[in-house]
Amino acid sequence: MTAAPPTEGVLVDRYGRVARDLRVSLTDKCNLRCTYCMPAEGLPWLAGPQLLSDDEIVRLVRVAVGLLGVTEVRFTGGEPLIRPGLVGIVAAVAALEPRPRISLTTNGIGLDRLAATLRAAGLDRVNVSLDTLDRDRFARLTRRDRLDDVLAGLAGAARAGLTPVKINSVLMRGVNDDEAPALLRFALDHGYELRFIEQMPLDAQHGWDRTTMVTADEILATLRQAYALAPDPVVRGAAPAETWLVDGGPARVGVIGSVTRPFCGDCDRTRLTADGQVRNCLFATEESDLRAALRGGADDAELARRWRAAMWGKRAGHGIDDPTFLQPDRPMSAIGG
Ligand code: SAM
Ligand code: SF4
Repeated sequence: MTAAPPTEGVLVDRYGRVARDLRVSLTDKCNLRCTYCMPAEGLPWLAGPQLLSDDEIVRLVRVAVGLLGVTEVRFTGGEPLIRPGLVGIVAAVAALEPRPRISLTTNGIGLDRLAATLRAAGLDRVNVSLDTLDRDRFARLTRRDRLDDVLAGLAGAARAGLTPVKINSVLMRGVNDDEAPALLRFALDHGYELRFIEQMPLDAQHGWDRTTMVTADEILATLRQAYALAPDPVVRGAAPAETWLVDGGPARVGVIGSVTRPFCGDCDRTRLTADGQVRNCLFATEESDLRAALRGGADDAELARRWRAAMWGKRAGHGIDDPTFLQPDRPMSAIGG
């Protein structure tokens, strides 16, 4: 391996990992205030001119797909459904050659109304975040009384064929950690694929505490009290979730043990923030400013060169367990989870 980033081809780093999966944050704003993500009062949002325009987003995705070997594009945020141009962005990305697979991570609010339109525009799949099935808990956890909207969004996504519909759940001790089996029952009954995500130190308030975090081992132990879990024979590849067959399959459940079972060695992600910064890791402390380059007149080849250089510097791992670990300045909602 050479000591300098490659001048052409895919997004490879100095450890030989190749980034094929692009996460694009469409906005840092959100209509919920999940306690593990944002403070009640929200955050100082990016100002309009700081945000990439719809055309700028599509141009950068075109560079990623056309010149850098990206095959998967996931839109996220903040809450991507509140970006006015979402449908047009999805349609433009679906028209790219080669066509990437396109998915969306959302809290599901409004998805019942938008799912069919998004499907027609070219969206392939969705992940919907849902941490509890109890209305009061939902209202406390997200600080908004919107559980019914999320449930309607899930049903709408399934109806529109945005399948497999996946659910992301974060468990917090003393808040919803008793709900793992009920969430799995709900997912099995509706044909959704459930994945639990370990809580990560990415909240804006810096309130994460390793000692109280609900671990992948604990989640699995709780699930095993109600279900038989067998290792999934499907090869995991770069997927962050370890999956298990539930009661003999074919239904499965996943656990993303980002903290206790890190998968950095297989990571194939690259990230673009809503203000046009490339991040080579959720936990990166440095970013590469593609917006300034783009607005300064850089051509596609130059944008690709900068993107390659940004990925080349990706660290071997997130280092959460390292005593020198520093939480990134940007919270999850502004990075794009
Ligand atoms: N608003 C959308 C949603 O909630 O799905 C997309 C953005 S959100 C930041 C993406 C995912 O990150 C969600 O599944 C959410 O639960 C998860 N998330 C947010 N903060 C987290 C944290 N501190 N640790 C682990 N996951 C987190
Ligand atoms: Fe919004 Fe998603 Fe963060 Fe919840 S996790 S506050 S829905 S961005």
